[in-house]
Amino acid sequence: MDAETLRQYLEFYQDLGIKTLYRQPVELAGESACPTSTMDLPPLAPTNDTILKIIEDIGDCQRCRLSAGRNKIVFGVGNEQSPLVFVGEGPGADEDAQGIPFVGRAGQLLTQMIEGTAKKEGIEILRKDIYIANVVKCRPPENRNPEPDEMEICGQFLHRQLLVIRPKVICALGGVAARALTGHKEGVTKMRGKWFKWQEIPVMVTYHPSYLLRPYNQEAKREAWEDLKKVLHYVYD
Ligand code: URA
Repeated sequence: MDAETLRQYLEFYQDLGIKTLYRQPVELAGESACPTSTMDLPPLAPTNDTILKIIEDIGDCQRCRLSAGRNKIVFGVGNEQSPLVFVGEGPGADEDAQGIPFVGRAGQLLTQMIEGTAKKEGIEILRKDIYIANVVKCRPPENRNPEPDEMEICGQFLHRQLLVIRPKVICALGGVAARALTGHKEGVTKMRGKWFKWQEIPVMVTYHPSYLLRPYNQEAKREAWEDLKKVLHYVYD
């Protein structure tokens, strides 16, 4: 690999929030390759990428252990020209069954929050007008947080989705998405309500809707509404 290709890979990984590269032995044409001679790298985003190409490249993905327990790959949904993209953590049971992000209880709350806040603020958008995706596309077992290697492997597809859509703003829902997109390590309580950047695109961090479903989190709910108002006005004013 030449220096320019290596530089492109390193920039690509930096944008994905990847800090560590693992050298893996690779089998070459039936002989075992020298373990230090090559690394098993996911491909860079192709030029003239499209959402369709990304879906084709994901295919019947078996790249990480999450594929073993999934029913459906949850790629993303909504308007591919949207100036606003919401990014969650990973599918839950309802999403895994339907193949659509944020359709369970947390998703219904997210829809209500987007549509309710927009209406109150005089902004004419519905859920179908924005785009929603997750950091990982297959359901983690028992809804556990995705592991770092799962996020690294799957992150290439979120990265490509965001490069194709190039929204005006990204809204990170919860700590996992916030850390994956911003590279910051703090908890969501510290990061929420603040602007960060992903490749020059402003990123607002707010609470994950499933956290807001808990009855004792009413204050967080109010804060999330404030965050969403900021986002909507920034995008649509
Ligand atoms: N939680 C997420 O982070 N994503 C979904 O799609 C559903 C629940």
